[in-house]
Amino acid sequence: MRHIEVCLTFDFDAESVQVRQKEEQGRVSKGQFAVRRGIPRILALLKKYGIKATFFTCGWVAEKYPELVNKIVDDDHELGAHGYLHEYFDQLSTQEEETVIEKMTTPLLDFSDKIKGFRAPYWQLSPNTLKLVSEAGYIYDSSLFSDDRPYFIPSLNLLEFPVEWFLDDWVIFEIHQHSPTSALDIWKSQFDSFMEIEDISTNRRVFTLTCHPAAIGHVYRLNVLDKLINHMKMNNVTFQKMGDVADQIINE
Ligand SMILES: [Zn+2]
Repeated sequence: MRHIEVCLTFDFDAESVQVRQKEEQGRVSKGQFAVRRGIPRILALLKKYGIKATFFTCGWVAEKYPELVNKIVDDDHELGAHGYLHEYFDQLSTQEEETVIEKMTTPLLDFSDKIKGFRAPYWQLSPNTLKLVSEAGYIYDSSLFSDDRPYFIPSLNLLEFPVEWFLDDWVIFEIHQHSPTSALDIWKSQFDSFMEIEDISTNRRVFTLTCHPAAIGHVYRLNVLDKLINHMKMNNVTFQKMGDVADQIINE
């Protein structure tokens, strides 16, 4: 029977986007839903199933909400880096990128000895970003679309966990406003097909889902994630932190 590793990942942006863009209070409050309701509900759901997951967050968010980040780490989830204030890396100079990478990493190291993973905000990168991230000591990235299995990025000492728009709750719920049935159908169909497909790649089958606490934290949407987890558990899957899978692949 085929085996799939499932990496549930959560991009904990809080209101970083709205603060960087100096938006008005209503829009700021949209990001704050992640703090007040999203993260606590997600942690409870993961605890219910005994699942360990990966939370990518911004340096600024870790500075502003240390109690919440502590809760994430106390529950043995992984912290990954996601910019300082959710920057567009492709719009920064190389020097600015270096500064942001240092600023995003330092606050996270207050919560974890090593931050292994990076995910670019908006999944947008300059030609230099991944080289700089690798030089800063990160061992994996999760921002590219070029495969549906992890692979080593040529010429960089960096493992890639690819992503997809249809495996992103923000796109499904906030942009396309899919119904719960349709969202669950998309995610389940991809999971089932990925489990069944015959292909010659020997790279691990890793199913990566990207969720945002401000989106998935609404109850009808969290119910979709709950149902998806239940469906996955009926198959031969292991839920793992991305950093643990990265360590395993690197040591193989
Ligand atoms: Zn984000």
